[in-house]
Amino acid sequence: MKNPEAQQDVSVSQGIRLMFYMMKPNETSFRTLEEVPDYVKKATPFFISLMLLELAVSWIRKGKPPGRVDDSLTSMSAGILSRLPRLFSRSIELTSYVYIWENYRLIGLPWDSPWTWYLTFLAVDFGYYWFHRMAHEVNIMWAGHQTHHSSEDYNLSTALRQSVFQVYTSWIFYSPLALFIPPSVYAVHLQFNLLYQFWIHTEVIGNLGPLELILNTPSHHRVHHGRNRYCIDKNYAGTLIIWDRIFGTFEAESEKVVYGLTHPINTFEPFKVQFHYLIYIWTTFWATPGFFNKFSVIFKGPGWSPGKPRLGLSEEIPEALSQVTLLLRVCFILLTLTSIGLLLDQRPKAALVETLRCLVFLTLWRFGHLKPFIPSLSLAFEIFFSICTAFWGVRSIKQLASGPWK
Ligand SMILES: [Zn+2]
Ligand SMILES: [Zn+2]
Repeated sequence: MKNPEAQQDVSVSQGIRLMFYMMKPNETSFRTLEEVPDYVKKATPFFISLMLLELAVSWIRKGKPPGRVDDSLTSMSAGILSRLPRLFSRSIELTSYVYIWENYRLIGLPWDSPWTWYLTFLAVDFGYYWFHRMAHEVNIMWAGHQTHHSSEDYNLSTALRQSVFQVYTSWIFYSPLALFIPPSVYAVHLQFNLLYQFWIHTEVIGNLGPLELILNTPSHHRVHHGRNRYCIDKNYAGTLIIWDRIFGTFEAESEKVVYGLTHPINTFEPFKVQFHYLIYIWTTFWATPGFFNKFSVIFKGPGWSPGKPRLGLSEEIPEALSQVTLLLRVCFILLTLTSIGLLLDQRPKAALVETLRCLVFLTLWRFGHLKPFIPSLSLAFEIFFSICTAFWGVRSIKQLASGPWK
């Protein structure tokens, strides 16, 4: 029997709830896969409305749009491109799932039980966490997923920047669910999980207090999109952030996030956005000597090369400088050059300026705006600059005591 409360059409209030995973089991349980609505398609007007709302809020608050037009158009074209294969056939995520369900299922949970609904919510989200984590840790999977990370702006349009061939690997992570969860229930949650991830791609929402403990939020997902070192390989969650907290990949938002790939692609060409990394893997594969190394090029992390650990070396990730850090570094360089000039001139106030420079150095160092070239020499550097501060400090005091400056 059909579920009388489940509807094919989506009302406005349902549409809004749809974007936040606030649907109830009884209104979204279906007996067959064919009855399951194309929620993602039905959400299109809500994608557009929320993007316009974000634009308005950003204009009012900051006096500027939340991103660039060219970047947003590239994201939207990636979104459209990624949906095109579905015009011709059911997605591989569903085809493979139905095949396993029909041939290998162990038990069939009841499609109309709220328990099945909630269990599937957790199971799909858990599957998403591992798929997403592997999409960052396995080079050939990253070739698909990197598309989503190639935007250097962070706004709702970024959510639409989807890969064309990511689904060819993601289905593997959901296939164990086909041993006991009916395809119709899985198809509903697969869409809800994707739709939930739309609203978290924004800078207009700050910290959400206690919700940050359980849910994946804009703040958590901003970290995921960052190329600052503290952001790399963190916060893989889809809906619940608990998976990152459990498996040790959680990182809270701290210093300002700089978005995009560690090696920016600098292009708006839709096919390059989708496929450039596959070409990169292909050339690296042939340029790397040895069978096992070639194998590793495909299956180890994007940062791997012969002789390095599986996920590469974190110190090799290029620094993403925040505007503040950049400005402070420029000021420090100017102060250094001034100080050198004064010392060469043997001016009396050189000692005082050099003391000041050493103090500024130590402060910037402490707050992470300056970093050593060789990390293991960090402490030695700090001691050396403390001695310099003391040395020049004493000279400044002597200078001050000995008479007026010229
Ligand atoms: Zn990602
Ligand atoms: Zn994202």
